[in-house]
Amino acid sequence: MQYRSTRSKDILVTSAAAISKGLSPDGGLFVPQFIPQMGLPEIELLSAMNYRERACNILARFLTDFSEAEITQCVNAAYTDKKFESAEIAPLKKISDQKYILELWHGPTCAFKDMALQILPHLLTCSRKKEGIKEETVILVATSGDTGKAALSGFADVPGTKIVVFYPENGVSQIQKLQMTTQDGENVYVSAVNGNFDDAQNGVKRIFTDGDYENELKNAGKVLSSANSINWGRLVPQIVYYFSAYANMLRSGEINIGEKINIVVPTGNFGNILAAYYANRMGLPINKFICASNSNNVLTDFIKTGVYDRNRRFNTTISPSMDILISSNLERFLFDITIGDDKKVSEFMQKLRTEGKYDIGEKLRDEISNVLYGGYCNDDETMNTIKTVFDKYSYVADTHTAVALKVYDDYVAETGDTAKTVIASTASPYKFSASVVQAICGDTVDKDEFQIIDMLSDISKLPVPSALAELKNKKIRFIAVCEPDDMKDAVSGFLG
Ligand SMILES: *Cc1c(COP(=O)(O)O)cnc(C)c1O
Repeated sequence: MQYRSTRSKDILVTSAAAISKGLSPDGGLFVPQFIPQMGLPEIELLSAMNYRERACNILARFLTDFSEAEITQCVNAAYTDKKFESAEIAPLKKISDQKYILELWHGPTCAFKDMALQILPHLLTCSRKKEGIKEETVILVATSGDTGKAALSGFADVPGTKIVVFYPENGVSQIQKLQMTTQDGENVYVSAVNGNFDDAQNGVKRIFTDGDYENELKNAGKVLSSANSINWGRLVPQIVYYFSAYANMLRSGEINIGEKINIVVPTGNFGNILAAYYANRMGLPINKFICASNSNNVLTDFIKTGVYDRNRRFNTTISPSMDILISSNLERFLFDITIGDDKKVSEFMQKLRTEGKYDIGEKLRDEISNVLYGGYCNDDETMNTIKTVFDKYSYVADTHTAVALKVYDDYVAETGDTAKTVIASTASPYKFSASVVQAICGDTVDKDEFQIIDMLSDISKLPVPSALAELKNKKIRFIAVCEPDDMKDAVSGFLG
């Protein structure tokens, strides 16, 4: 199977090329030429498999230019017992007759980004080999927190790669900062930027678009690449856990084969929910996709009105990984629902660039609302939900998961739908301890982040993830702070 761009018919590449390139040269995103189909008997077979076997099974259907041995090697290197603190990798916890929480945060950085960023470096290394790319790949990341650490952890000591991460000096939490500045690995470099996230992001974009610098690097045997979620290699591993959740429900007799479930996803860039949609297009029985946003509710409005409009205030919330006004992966969804109309997709994206908005029209809007339900939840509602979910189910949800739980309750109140529902849980509550403890106890005054983590451990009786516990005693390796204009020099200094 080959991959094409969402914006033109002319570009056809292998999956290895799609993964090593990241973005199509016409600015579009790579999508599979067709969606592989999986019948119910095949889905039923998954229930007897473990997570790694399920991953090999699903990935092989998309990465048809990879050998079975190559896929197995990538999967086995990523989803190990050493890296994931749950043997199930993505366990499903039932909290009521209808609600099943899919915990995607048992990886090394305690956020769902690990599900993709633990395997992406292996897929990339393998793709580079297949494409005959000799240059060393230098991954550049600007991060507001979660992605930087997950990428560092995934790429640390992966041969043929180096990774440089920039974060805003005053824009990440103390835990997030420690997670990055104590990162091990000979091929990693981390620097603070004296500015906000936009300054860091713009600095990285300037380096990517500097043609002279690209040539300079090429002569030195290096090529720049990115680890953000528009890369197909980050999306495809996410399809696996939706099949895995369904297979778990089959195995424990919670559902019968063919029974439709709902999927709720706390959404930012539209990557995670798109993976669920692809699972459904492959054959996974899903009734509704519930797209949950925080007060940056551009997607809620889009689903309701058919107008995507980013011209609005950017809100900083307690679910920061969803503070996004441009959901890049929506482009792949639009491509699918227009049945591959690249001209239309290009037009929408052009409008988004020039006017900050586009209108898909009534017909497409109606089609979208057949599959997608959109809702949002503000910070107060998020805090209340953490508290009520804890009181009612003794379940501790992080701020992002709480947004999903609240929007799902709104959906049920509105529709009366009783289908069993999988709620994607995207971060460990320990990663956002301050908000979680405050929601449950109402008090965190004068406590540092490690004391708050201990409080959460007392309340929740859940083990503190070792990756967070050991931060307290880890040596800080990176103390550099650079000006936005000096980021290129910082990269050069590291590359030597
Ligand atoms: C990245 C992230 C999200 C948003 O996922 P998308 O794929 O961008 O929609 C939600 N929650 C957490 C904790 C995240 O890190």
